[in-house]
Amino acid sequence: MPDIIQLLPDHVANQIAAGEVVQRPASVVKELIENAIDAEASEIKLFIKDAGKTLIQVIDNGKGMSNTDAQRSFERHATSKISKAEDLFNLHTKGFRGEALASIAAIAQVELKTKTSDSELGTLIKIEGSEIVSQERIATSEGTSVAVKNLFFNIPARRNFLKSNSIETRHIVNEFQRVALAHPAISFSMYHNDNNVYKLPSSNLRQRIVAVFGKKTNEKLVPIQETTDVVEINGYIAKPEYAKKKRGEQFFFVNDRFIKNSYLNHAVTSAFESLLSHGSYPTYFLYLTVPSNSIDINIHPTKTEVKFENEKSIYAILRSTVKHSLGQYNVAPVLDFERQTSFDTPYEFKNKSVGSPQIKVDPDFNPFKTESASYGRDTGSLAKRVHFSKNLNTESWEGLYAGLEIEHISEAQESAPIKLYSEEETQTNHGSGTYQIHNKYIVSSIKSGIVYINQHLAHQRILYEEFLQNITVKDAMSQQLLFPLDISFNKSDIVFIKEMKEDLISVGFDFGDFTEDSVNIIGIPVNTSESQIVIILEQLLEDVKNDVPDSSYSQHDVMAKSLAKSLAIKTGTHLDQKEQEALVNTLFSCKEPGVSPFGKKTFITLTLNDIDKKF
Ligand code: ADP
Ligand code: MG
Repeated sequence: MPDIIQLLPDHVANQIAAGEVVQRPASVVKELIENAIDAEASEIKLFIKDAGKTLIQVIDNGKGMSNTDAQRSFERHATSKISKAEDLFNLHTKGFRGEALASIAAIAQVELKTKTSDSELGTLIKIEGSEIVSQERIATSEGTSVAVKNLFFNIPARRNFLKSNSIETRHIVNEFQRVALAHPAISFSMYHNDNNVYKLPSSNLRQRIVAVFGKKTNEKLVPIQETTDVVEINGYIAKPEYAKKKRGEQFFFVNDRFIKNSYLNHAVTSAFESLLSHGSYPTYFLYLTVPSNSIDINIHPTKTEVKFENEKSIYAILRSTVKHSLGQYNVAPVLDFERQTSFDTPYEFKNKSVGSPQIKVDPDFNPFKTESASYGRDTGSLAKRVHFSKNLNTESWEGLYAGLEIEHISEAQESAPIKLYSEEETQTNHGSGTYQIHNKYIVSSIKSGIVYINQHLAHQRILYEEFLQNITVKDAMSQQLLFPLDISFNKSDIVFIKEMKEDLISVGFDFGDFTEDSVNIIGIPVNTSESQIVIILEQLLEDVKNDVPDSSYSQHDVMAKSLAKSLAIKTGTHLDQKEQEALVNTLFSCKEPGVSPFGKKTFITLTLNDIDKKF
């Protein structure tokens, strides 16, 4: 048999490597900005066209590259950042793999312009699918500009795989926010299709957070600071009353690198303990500094996970530091009177004076083991304060079903014949076919036995189908507001709302002007009340951001689900006879009455046979 193994040509190898490094335009954004930071730039500009599909350009004022380095930078494993294996354990730069530029150049048309401070002329290199197309000396300013055009131009399958512009933009904004938050001293700006999305001047951390997330953020922030031998912690947490309904603004940075870490997230969340109402998540911006040889970031080029040597100690320190700040800043006044020593950072971790011997930390030490339960004792009123109650506007809710009762007799209904009653009967509640128990379930007798309907889940199903239909057919009713609402959002949320504008209009919203950080709302869906709007929109933004839907169909789905979840009548809401019947009738006229949009059962039946067996 002849020999069949060959070495892959470089451009093929690069394309394969690119699959790892470049998943989407946002990956290119991340790599280019990180290179600019590594080049010690003080000003970084990002230009995007068509969600990065047409153009991603990063311009920096960093140290630039020599003519030879510029050419070499596109080779695989070409890096100026490490030279030997040991360097991997003492990283001070973002990049070190030397793969990014080679990968990007394999799958796009790249134009690099660069100049160092000590040379008269700079270099312009054009490279396409790993082939250098041209290289010349040009006059250009100090620093580097990398323009990446037509990403995946030579791999149509990958290009077609890219998601809608709104989704790809969202990924880019996420990456941009992460690096901007990690480096407040660097000035960043971002332009999308020539619109300025962000202009972030060099500032301190607090100013940077406010510049990214909007003016209102300032009053929410509580500073955090702790220095120990194992870790230094800086940053801000948001007061518990500003907790979000979904985990959204939660940022951990380790040595100025954004990371995700569910273990440390648990440390923070548990420090908030009973200060958060059920189902809400704290907002935090936490910066950990650890010795670079105590973490392992060399897991995967695009992964945000990091391994810590002292994970358990860091957990304990983080938790106590967050608790301490919550207590100190009168976030929970009760803590001031009954201050417990366990809120203090365990003395073992406190920074000793310079030159003190290295402290050995017991990783299993848990300073909270003996904590008394009184911490949450008097926080009842606080819990109430942070608890949102979404008032059901019963009148408009009823209106939703007006006229629907007798219209649909679906197959499902035939097997569950629910009788309709006259007004008198309803009022006397005598002999009616439905019954509400514990303000939670609607019970009704059916031919084969009994049906128990979960009112909250049933209503979710009804609203979900209705919203989905409205988004598709675009004929929802809107109630115009007498006094339009101005609602503030941060800049990137405004971008998202603008992108969803058409869909929101089709479910009944109506918009006036948008500014950089506010939306003017002039109409809302008929079955909502004004007081719910902020909550509904925030929930929607969180859901859409977290689910990162992958097609416009699924974006509609996420939206319909989110609105249904926000607006469905809650467990604990009393429903009168008419409302119960309307709910039951409408449920059984749904396409899929049996399951909630989130896959839970909306009703169960108990057959006569089942009941007989019990006797
Ligand atoms: P890495 O960042 O892992 O070293 P890259 O492929 O991203 O690999 O970049 C290769 C090399 O090109 C870098 O090590 C650096 O020397 C140089 N380089 C890339 N971008 C810039 C830039 N914006 N300014 C100066 N040098 C750069
Ligand atoms: Mg790099």
